[in-house]
Amino acid sequence: MTDQNLDKIADGLVVSIHYTLTLDNGEEVDSSAGREPLEYIHGQQGIVPGLERELAGCHVGQKLEVKVTPEDGYGPRVAEARQDVPIDQMPEGVQPGMQLQAEAPTGEVMIVHVAEVTAEKVVVDLNHPLAGETLNFAVEVLSVRAATPEELDHGHAHGPGGHDH
Ligand code: ZN
Repeated sequence: MTDQNLDKIADGLVVSIHYTLTLDNGEEVDSSAGREPLEYIHGQQGIVPGLERELAGCHVGQKLEVKVTPEDGYGPRVAEARQDVPIDQMPEGVQPGMQLQAEAPTGEVMIVHVAEVTAEKVVVDLNHPLAGETLNFAVEVLSVRAATPEELDHGHAHGPGGHDH
């Protein structure tokens, strides 16, 4: 690690950024403005691939705008990912727009989005809400530092408060 230049983003370093995410229709869907900056370990898929690739080699203080295609973002929207579920298998009071946890056959817990509710059935959507969207990121690189052994072990950055999980 001694040779690493901590002015520039490289694999295995903890990067702190401020970002704003806007869709092609101009809708702002996420931003770190007014919050703690986002910290992630570069090169470990902590952020969408298209953004991570563009950030490689960027220096502290740099501002950039990155357009990310769905393929390099949250993936294409898949029509088959919409499924009907009988209403009696859903929790009471289910509403369109809700997010529910479901267990996949593999045992993996996933988030599903409630798209429609009728008297008989609920249509759930397994697509990420940003699947199929082109993502426009405005990013400012705030700092770059070496990851701690614990962070590398966990595969994610720990905030200023340290380890809380
Ligand atoms: Zn951790």
